[in-house]
Amino acid sequence: MLVEFAGHHGDGWQRELAQAITDPGQLLEALALDPALLTPALAAAARFRLRVPRSFVARMCRGDARDPLLRQVLPLGEELAEVAGYSGDPLGEAAANLAPGLLHKYRGRALLVTTGACAVHCRYCFRREFPYDAQLSGDGRWSGALAAIGADTGIEEIILSGGDPLALSNARLAALSGSLAALPHLRRLRVHTRMPVVLPSRVDAGFVAWLRSLPWPTVVVVHANHAREIDATVAGAFARTRAAGVQILNQSVLLAGVNDDEEALVTLSTALFEAGALPYYLHLLDRVRGAAHFEVPEARARELVRAISARLPGYLVPKLVREEAGAAGKTVL
Ligand SMILES: *Cc1c(COP(=O)(O)O)cnc(C)c1O
Ligand code: SF4
Repeated sequence: MLVEFAGHHGDGWQRELAQAITDPGQLLEALALDPALLTPALAAAARFRLRVPRSFVARMCRGDARDPLLRQVLPLGEELAEVAGYSGDPLGEAAANLAPGLLHKYRGRALLVTTGACAVHCRYCFRREFPYDAQLSGDGRWSGALAAIGADTGIEEIILSGGDPLALSNARLAALSGSLAALPHLRRLRVHTRMPVVLPSRVDAGFVAWLRSLPWPTVVVVHANHAREIDATVAGAFARTRAAGVQILNQSVLLAGVNDDEEALVTLSTALFEAGALPYYLHLLDRVRGAAHFEVPEARARELVRAISARLPGYLVPKLVREEAGAAGKTVL
């Protein structure tokens, strides 16, 4: 279960984060939606809490219960259905744990779970039941992971993930990158974050300074699923990131009722490019308990990618991938 933020103060993005909507009633009211949605929303939120920043809600259409942005965050009764094949750890991540907080599944790349906190709770998130508390407890919580990375010179790239690593303060990011900089075999840094999309004010001057300070070529992989997520504030956050010399890639999840049509995917790719990001992966849904209603059949997914490939330049077509427990990398379809 994703953990909650402790202690909200400071200004700018931290205040915005603290003011995120977590009460389903408030979300329905803000968007003038049918109050009948409340009872199922409360039941589903009891399992995995609602969380959405107000600036993201502002990009949704009032009165539209099928809004593609809303659908990613609104708890629904469907989440409570037990569906065969959907589990709490669909990727077998528990088995890939090298040290607390470190996942090493693929050659040369290790993923560091830096925090369990996120600015938004995506209903389809495959880590909605991830045991963050066990992973992150105690002081010096990265020391085991850092020691394991230091001991394995085959690791060339560190992926900061979570949760959302940008939930950490700039000071904590600097402390972490400082420790990593002491390991001479690291050649690249990657940051997997949804914050530039859902809370663009997070890309503040201190964060940009941190990016500039990094001793490695750096990639920021953002996460947007629909073109309407990308407004001028998001494009601004991307531009500030790029000005620090950082490449931006985007990963999406193919989600029924959000982006499972040709037009939505074409528009997403072009909007990303215009904002300064290249499409990277389009993930088939990971079969996590509570997300079965987002499933798009693989045959339909392939058909969609064929259709957009016929309309877009190759560099705007994301790779359709699935994650399989035990595989050497994402499976490209
Ligand atoms: C997705 C993932 C990566 C990165 O894979 P790329 O194909 O390099 O983007 C690395 N480690 C884990 C555990 C992952 O799930
Ligand atoms: S931001 Fe990423 S980790 Fe956080 S809930 Fe959404 S998909 Fe999951």
